[in-house]
Amino acid sequence: MKVKFMPRRPEAIIKQARERIERIRETLNAIDCLCSGTLLERIKVCGKPGCRCAQDPDARHGPYYDWGPIKGGKLAHRTVSPELAFVLRRAIANYRQAKKLMQAWEDETERLIDAEAPRRL
Ligand SMILES: [Zn+2]
Repeated sequence: MKVKFMPRRPEAIIKQARERIERIRETLNAIDCLCSGTLLERIKVCGKPGCRCAQDPDARHGPYYDWGPIKGGKLAHRTVSPELAFVLRRAIANYRQAKKLMQAWEDETERLIDAEAPRRL
C-alpha cells in the first residue's frame, strides 16, 4: 500500500504548475532550430595506392559528417559540411530538449486539470 500524504491545497498546486509551464514556455521560446535524426562523424581510408592514410591513422581523411534525419519513417542519409554539422549538432540537442520540455508541459497540464477539476469517485 502506498503511503498517502496530506493532499496539498489545489491553489498551491495550480500556482506551481502554472509557474512551471511558464518556465517551460520561456525555455522553448529561446530555441531557434530543431532537427530530428542523428549525426555521425566518420574518418575514411581512401584506398588510393601510395596514400599515407593506409599506414598513418593521423593521415586518414575527414572527418566527414553524415546526417540521418527521419523523413516519413525512413532514415534519409546525407553528407553535410563541417559548418552545417556544427549547426545540426545543436539543432539535434535542441530537439531532444524540446521533447523533454513538451513531456513536462503535458505533465504539468495534467496536474493543473486534476487540481482544477478533481476527479469525483
Ligand atoms: Zn587516403
